[in-house]
Amino acid sequence: MPELPEVETVVRGIRPGLVGNTITRLELLHPRVYRHSDPNVLRCIVEGATIQDVTRRGKFILLHLDGNRPPLAIHLRMSGKLLFDDSALHSPHLRASVYLDEGPALHFVDTRTFGTFFLVDGTEPNGFRTLGPEPLSSQFTRAEFARILGASRTPIKTYLLMQDKIAGIGNIYASEALWMARVSPKLPAGTLNDEQISHLHRAIRKVLRDAVKQMGTTFSDFRRPGGQPGEYGNNLHVYGRAGETCPRCRQPIERMVQHGRSTFFCPKCQRGPRRD
Ligand SMILES: [Zn+2]
Repeated sequence: MPELPEVETVVRGIRPGLVGNTITRLELLHPRVYRHSDPNVLRCIVEGATIQDVTRRGKFILLHLDGNRPPLAIHLRMSGKLLFDDSALHSPHLRASVYLDEGPALHFVDTRTFGTFFLVDGTEPNGFRTLGPEPLSSQFTRAEFARILGASRTPIKTYLLMQDKIAGIGNIYASEALWMARVSPKLPAGTLNDEQISHLHRAIRKVLRDAVKQMGTTFSDFRRPGGQPGEYGNNLHVYGRAGETCPRCRQPIERMVQHGRSTFFCPKCQRGPRRD
């Protein structure tokens, strides 16, 4: 699933082809793509609008439209891809197309149909409305991170994935940041000490910033808008590397399942509260 760096990469890739163009037609080809919206309202608002900017909020893409229109949000979810490539018209998984007055249309191809288009007009899904702070923004200070962790008993790895706490972090970068900060993924979020909070705060920002620079990690379906893979994959220290040695201490990396998701960690340099 694309996380903050992958979505940011998509935003940067599609922005030049969208900004300044007017949407002439929005085709919604599968009911799941507009499951949060009335498709007629969606089309009525979007068609005729000029795109002023394309930004990201958490893992959501936002097309900002002119004339006091609400932004159009696109959520790629598991397998959604946005392509300026008309060969997508032959794909059985084409779910939506945004036709523009100039240049190629933007097509949304999504094999698993979890992706959605919706308006940020008060009808947006809860998952968008309750998003926590952007981890790369200036609001996400160490003090703010400590406040967010509060007294939670939820394991820190699971906590980092909760989009209403911090927006945009997923499974890959949560494992990587915890490894970098030498924090056990099992520690209850509210029990991190001051030093661990500082290290993890810094690690989250570093891992995400580096991955944005490298245009994300290619796992399963993620491709940059031109079809190229992201380049961060070689920088992964623990994610997907169970059985390989920890680059820091040479202990074998382990995989465990937390809240239904794989966590990769080094049992030696990420020791839990008790020896575990
Ligand atoms: Zn280690």
